[in-house]
Amino acid sequence: MKTFKEEVKSRRTFAIISHPDAGKTTLTEQLLLLGGAIRAAGTVKGKKSGKFATSDWMEIEKQRGISVTSSVMQFDYNGFRVNILDTPGHEDFSEDTYRTLTAVDSAVMVIDSAKGIEPQTLKLFKVCRMRGIPIFTFMNKLDRVGKTPLELIAELEEVLGIEAYPMNWPIGMGKEFLGIYDRFYNRIETFRGEEEDRFLPLNEDGELAVDHPMKQSSLYTDVLEEVELLNEAGNEFSEEKIRSGLLTPVFFGSALTNFGVQTFLETYLQFAPEPQPRHSDQGEINPLEEQFSGFVFKIQANMNPQHRDRIAFVRICSGKFERGMSVTLARTGRTSKVTQSTQFLADDRSTVEEAVSGDIIGLYDTGTYQIGDTIVGGKKVFHYDPLPVFTPELFVRVTAKNVMKQKQFHKGIHQLVQEGAIQLFKTKFEDYILGAVGQLQFDVFVNRMKNEYNVDVVMEHIGSKIARWIEGDKVDEKLNSSRSMLVRDRFDRNVFLFENDFALRWFQEKHPNVKLYNPME
Ligand code: GDP
Repeated sequence: MKTFKEEVKSRRTFAIISHPDAGKTTLTEQLLLLGGAIRAAGTVKGKKSGKFATSDWMEIEKQRGISVTSSVMQFDYNGFRVNILDTPGHEDFSEDTYRTLTAVDSAVMVIDSAKGIEPQTLKLFKVCRMRGIPIFTFMNKLDRVGKTPLELIAELEEVLGIEAYPMNWPIGMGKEFLGIYDRFYNRIETFRGEEEDRFLPLNEDGELAVDHPMKQSSLYTDVLEEVELLNEAGNEFSEEKIRSGLLTPVFFGSALTNFGVQTFLETYLQFAPEPQPRHSDQGEINPLEEQFSGFVFKIQANMNPQHRDRIAFVRICSGKFERGMSVTLARTGRTSKVTQSTQFLADDRSTVEEAVSGDIIGLYDTGTYQIGDTIVGGKKVFHYDPLPVFTPELFVRVTAKNVMKQKQFHKGIHQLVQEGAIQLFKTKFEDYILGAVGQLQFDVFVNRMKNEYNVDVVMEHIGSKIARWIEGDKVDEKLNSSRSMLVRDRFDRNVFLFENDFALRWFQEKHPNVKLYNPME
């Protein structure tokens, strides 16, 4: 039996971030297979297997195959308890995706080695960077011809502005992929090698210590040179820099052929941070503190339309959660017993009896919780720092189809906005503008307005905009124009919605005294 402290220290909670098609699902499945959480590949995403088509979840989830069970996946490996949080790809993109990153202690970035850094990777990376989350990189699809490893590392450093430390280095790629030169374990891991020569040791000079046909390949000798270059001119390995998110260890591999994945996982678990302290209005809260506490980072609605239930996802930040315990919602001061809680496995949801700092639990919710809420399990009531505001990029003007439904329309919008499902802005004329970071948020909004508030809404797309808040919040209303639309957010702050980058720059040049800012930068 582990002590509480040992339990907490064994947790590794992370998200996998990537651009669609880089191989996140494939890598996740390989990790779950290694952890024994699933028995066959192809079980994670309903999208492809249609597994969830018969379930009774919200229509949108059926169509898109988003499932709660794949939002959080848990397994045990080498004495660690691993929690993987899903961050959906672009068509499923929403603020949830960003907020999920507030609930992790590190992130794994999967890159398609033929494509390099893609837009979605960059967006998610920026959020990690903003939060100082340590990032580990998996360069995927080495079984295909892609960019050279030197190009990939240079791109990583230039585009993302992070130092990279290659933990290993590919020997060839595509049809000529021979394996990886492992700088960290001083060995070569052979691709498609027999079990007995899967790992070949290196000698003190960093060359193969055993006889092997690879020695005759020019790919191998090229790699020796490249590795020497890395040793001399590359970044130094620094655990401290990894932990502060300044340096990313890079692993090459191929998720599809399950090559390099186990090495990655084992090394990752060694260096990935255990549950980290979180900041609150009463200072840092240590994960080893005994009092239970956590915050809601995601609310998933309407799992079952008959019951209108929702699940509030809670990241445990301190103490131990036990089913049936009393918790206080810091926002209202109300205390209640939690009897319905769930923890997440790849295939199934099961009832959680106990969970500790670092774990994610789901609480059945009938409208009690809001995103960002703190819950505590003892006398001391405090609030974790509010979740960051994410700058919306897509905007719609929204009205009720039926004017007779105004009351429900307003009630619905205000509740969904409060819950954090979508952002609301108002024009001078009290028009409602909704802002989101991804189309999915609008789809969910329409669906929930219909199902939960019985209102059909009409959305008029006004396209993508660049939202900028104003320092000091002072502004001349005359600056409102079609290219720089002035609106107020739900805290009544002024916000400009610029038509495009050009309009933004033009405005800045014209009105240098209006200081604009983006809350995400
Ligand atoms: P996601 O959208 O990031 O979740 O990507 P998926 O895991 O669904 O992978 C996208 C496509 O790339 C699928 O067809 C995978 O089979 C393929 N894929 C994933 N990893 C590899 C790899 O290592 N090598 C090759 N050749 N294909 C891969």
